[in-house]
Amino acid sequence: MHDDQDPSNYSLETLAIRAGHHRTFEQEHAEPIFPTSSFVYESAAEAARKFGGKEAGNVYSRFTNPTVHTFERRLAALEGGERCVATSSGMSAILSIALGHLSQGDEIVASRSLFGSTVSLFDKYLGKFGITTRYVELSDLDAWEQAIGPKTRLLYAETPSNPLSEVTDIKALAALAHQHAALLAIDNCFLTPALQQPLALGADLVIHSATKYLDGQGRAIGGAVVGRHGLLEEIFGVVRTCGPCMSPFNAWIFTKGLETLSLRMKAHSENAHALAEWLERHPAVTRVHYSGLEHHPQHELAKTQQRGFGAVLGVEVVKGQEGAWQVIDATRLLSITGNLGDVKTTITHPATTTHGRLSDAQREAAGITPGLIRIAVGLEGQQDIRDDLSRGLDALTD
Ligand SMILES: *Cc1c(COP(=O)(O)O)cnc(C)c1O
Repeated sequence: MHDDQDPSNYSLETLAIRAGHHRTFEQEHAEPIFPTSSFVYESAAEAARKFGGKEAGNVYSRFTNPTVHTFERRLAALEGGERCVATSSGMSAILSIALGHLSQGDEIVASRSLFGSTVSLFDKYLGKFGITTRYVELSDLDAWEQAIGPKTRLLYAETPSNPLSEVTDIKALAALAHQHAALLAIDNCFLTPALQQPLALGADLVIHSATKYLDGQGRAIGGAVVGRHGLLEEIFGVVRTCGPCMSPFNAWIFTKGLETLSLRMKAHSENAHALAEWLERHPAVTRVHYSGLEHHPQHELAKTQQRGFGAVLGVEVVKGQEGAWQVIDATRLLSITGNLGDVKTTITHPATTTHGRLSDAQREAAGITPGLIRIAVGLEGQQDIRDDLSRGLDALTD
């Protein structure tokens, strides 16, 4: 794709494969890696222009790097954003938003169902600098509205949530944020732009842990923020000065990962949907949380703002923690790990791992019951995944 081509003329599938790559003089077909810390110039005058920002061009790979730039341009095209800034991890993407857009005394209103480290970042580290966070029920718009005060600058959510697949109305949340001169940031890890584009629904910033589905094969840690130029310039400034930049090697992995993103997300969703329906019918399963199921409380909303339902399932089994551990321990194929967003199916017991540090009361409020298992459905054969789960599930009903 050439620079002067308007990305909106192309489908998401095409952009995932073509956007962001400028051929070098070598006319390479695949995207090259530039493992270089710095760049050289023809003259002192050129160096002065580039350092001073009077002429576009690379200076130092903490600021910009061509391989990283290819990833940024491609992800921006997929999210429908003007600009993307890549970061060293998903967490440093979130930190960069806070450092770029919040000051002492500002407030965040956030969903109660967030990635654990995001909660620690908000409470423990941003708290040290006088930024406070109030948490609300993700899908309760009245609760969001009531929690917003005059100092609220940022609304922050993941949708659908992990592991209960709760969904919030991004359009309504964006309207609420803008009424109060705040920004709405959506962590789009679980669906990716292949299944949900929060910017088109009014969100100001989209966050990614590229570590998850953008890579898709569990090979590298990285992150990104996408949005309009005005907001991203601040975030670029943070990354350039504070240094949580993405390595060119990782950027190359993520760029190649994006090429198969649409296919993978479609297959992940189909595998998860079929598994959710099968699990629901199993006598050892008391409840399946998945926004693709018709009885899910926000199924209709999910259908309007998502192009698929993703691959993370919450499954409650009989006999509480004992039952959940038995199902997990009986697996031979699935990976017992807290990670997700991988072609390999992973299984975990949230109450004693990802949500283990919460008090019993906090866990109960978050709906993390002792019998809850999280399955992040990968791309293995459907029957093999079922067989692996059947061993433990069948034993529970014997
Ligand atoms: C993993 C994850 C993060 C953090 O990303 P890292 O790349 O591990 O730093 C943030 N949000 C969500 C929803 C995640 O799953």
